[in-house]
Parts: sequence; C-alpha cells; structure tokens
Amino acid sequence: LAELLRQRATTQTLPDIPPEYYRFELYPEYLKIKQQQQEIAALGIDNPFFTPQEGIASNTTIINGRELINYATYNYLGMSGDPIVSQATKDAIDRYGTSASASRLLSGEKPIHRELEKAIANFIGTQDSIVYVGGHATNVTTVGHLFGQNDLILHDVLSHNSLLQGCLLSGATTIAFPHNDWESLRRILQDRRHRYRRTLILIEGIYSTDGDIPELPRFIELKQEYKAFLMVDEAHSIGVLGQQGRGLSEHFGVNPNDVDLWMGTLSKSFASCGGYIAGSSALVEYLKYTAPGFVYSVGISPPNAASVLASINVLTSEPERVQRLRDRGQLFLNLAKQHHLNTGTSKDSPIIPIIVGDSLASVQLSQNLFHRGINVPFMFYPSVPQNAARLRFFVTCQHTEEQIHQTVEILTEEIAKMAIS
Ligand code: PMP
Repeated sequence: LAELLRQRATTQTLPDIPPEYYRFELYPEYLKIKQQQQEIAALGIDNPFFTPQEGIASNTTIINGRELINYATYNYLGMSGDPIVSQATKDAIDRYGTSASASRLLSGEKPIHRELEKAIANFIGTQDSIVYVGGHATNVTTVGHLFGQNDLILHDVLSHNSLLQGCLLSGATTIAFPHNDWESLRRILQDRRHRYRRTLILIEGIYSTDGDIPELPRFIELKQEYKAFLMVDEAHSIGVLGQQGRGLSEHFGVNPNDVDLWMGTLSKSFASCGGYIAGSSALVEYLKYTAPGFVYSVGISPPNAASVLASINVLTSEPERVQRLRDRGQLFLNLAKQHHLNTGTSKDSPIIPIIVGDSLASVQLSQNLFHRGINVPFMFYPSVPQNAARLRFFVTCQHTEEQIHQTVEILTEEIAKMAIS
C-alpha cells in the first residue's frame, strides 16, 4: 500500500502555475518598471537613475567629465571629503581593520564603538545611544521590535519608508495623522489611546519631501498627556537644526530627555553609514541585548565609526558650518519666493522643493537643468501625492551665494520655458 501511495503521489500532476509566479523577468511589478523606462526613453530623456558621479559629492559633482553645481547630496556639512574626517577614518583602518567582523554582542566589540555611542549621546544630550549598521535598518528593527500586536502607532502621513516598514513588522495598529497636524493627532489619541497597551507617536525632525519642521513642544505635550512614547527621526535635522547642530530639541530649546527615542542616520551630516537611537540607559541597554538588527548583525565598521566621531569633533569646534548652512538655505528659499516659484511649506531648512505638479514635467525640468550645469533630483508619485511632483534642492554649507543666485535664475528661466505655473 505504501508503494502504491508513493507512486500516486509522484504521478499526480500539479495544477498549472503561471510563469510570472516563478520567473522574475515576468513579474508584473518588474514589467511596470520596464514600461516606465520605455516611456521616458520615448520622450528622448536619458535614464535619470543610477548616474555615476566622480569624486566627492559636495556643492559640485562630476558627471561624464563635466562639473555641475550639485543639489543631490545630503553631505550637508561638507564632512564627507573633509581632510580631518578622512584622516581619522584611515587611521581607524590601520588600527582596527576594515570590518567589525562579528556581532558586537558576542565578539565584534571595539573600543571605538562605545566611544562613538557616548559621543552621540553627549552631543544630543541623552543618557546613552546605540549604533546600528544602517539608517533604514535602525528604524525597521527598532520600531518593529519595541512594539507589538496590542499597541498603537500614530505616525505623520509623510513618514519615511523605514518607519513604515518598522510599523508593519511590529504588527501594531498603525494610523497616519495629517502632516504636522498635532490637533488631529490629539483627536485620535483621545478616541483610541485607552484601547491599547503602548502607544508610539512617530515624527521627523525635518521632512525630506517638503523641507518643513514639526512643532516639537506640541508633540511633547501630547505624549505626556496621553502617556505615549515619542520618537523623532532626525535623519535630516541632526547637524542641521539649532545653533550647534544638535537638532530639533536645540531648535525649540526643549529638554532632549522629553523625547523617548531620538533616531538619526550617520550617512548625512556625519559622513558615514549607519544609524543610532539615543535615549535613556534602560532603552539603550534593552535594545543592545534584544534588537534583532543589532544582535544578529555585524557592528558598524571601525572606519565608519571613526568618520562619525571625527565629524562630531569637527562640528563641535566649527559650529559656523551650521550657521552657513542655515544662511545658504534661507537665501535659496528667499530667492525662489521672490521669483514666485512654488516652494510648498519649506521653512528653516536646507531642503527646498520646487513643486511643478506633473511627474514627467519634473523629469524634463531636472534634465533641462542638467544640460545647463545643475544636478538636482526629482520626485514624483507615489513618493509624493499625485500632481505634486517636484525637484528637491538639498543645499549644503559649501554652496556659494553666487552658485545659489545662478541656480535660481536658471531655474526660473527653465520653468518659464516649460510654461509650468
Ligand atoms: N529616515 C529618513 C527620514 C530618511 O530620509 C532616510 C534616508 N534618506 C533614512 C531614515 C534612512 O537612512 P540611510 O539612508 O542612512 O539608511
């Protein structure tokens, strides 16, 4: 009987499985990307993605041997390429090698790891911090790990993908509140808080799609009133906001300990790669022993750690970089407004969107500017709402006033040529 059953099992035919279920080149989602590429090519526009750039990305970049004014880098403070930062990074390679080569928990810990975490905590003003190998991974693993099924996560509707992925992983009930709208958030808390165990409010220091800032004191009041946790993603605000670049808490003059989790990336102002969570000793110790993206992943590489440490030191001794960044951002915004360009809600930040509406218009405008010596990225649906496609100018402290004047002149001319209102 066993032999008969075995024969039947091997001769039974499977129902037809469509090839798109087991061949990547037939994935409908992949074919959609191919179609988009063809549409862009049909308009005579070069593929605008993955353009190789030579040299160090700063206020200028080199593409195909041509030097362009560059607005496509998050090297806000010019730390990537700074000689002191580069030298410290090279020294760390000589001392520790290029990799931590294991999870820190068991055998990858180096003295520079603790030094870095203490320096970050000290810079932000919290008890401690933990460093992970990726900024995106920091959000996914931290949010995904700390919250669960009976919890509630309330996040700004413009939250970064990494935060949303963390929400999904957590299994918590997740609700988006309208952008920067703490009054709507209050209503949701009033209705729902009592039904859940833990509640997390998620905001960002500067929103990278719009270049605007949340009213932190209002969010702190809400988190205290409704006994929730507050997490702020400072990917774009650490090193950028406040007189000394200490971020959103310095900008508003609030106590950093009134926020439960400060998150930041190391890839922007700090010229490296990785992410951190800064907060109480209890939070950091708990994450260090349990967060999957930390426990089951290699420690940040020693040279990457050294770049951050050196960037913090340079920033502390040269806070004028932050002031220059603020001035240049303000200059760009003022000039754009004088020329009646649509800068949306951008304010007090080095991120200035120029909203053009149509997706293809944003690609075309970016390309026209490229031909006139300006490198600037575009962004369209679904990254931003339909009909709100835009160019995003990331200003750095290295941009000169002249470069900014020239850019806004050219931008205004090109927009007028395309008849974008
Ligand atoms: N959070 C925000 C708000 C971001 O904009 C980004 C990346 N741009 C990240 C997290 C992820 O950081 P990283 O690129 O360093 O992984």
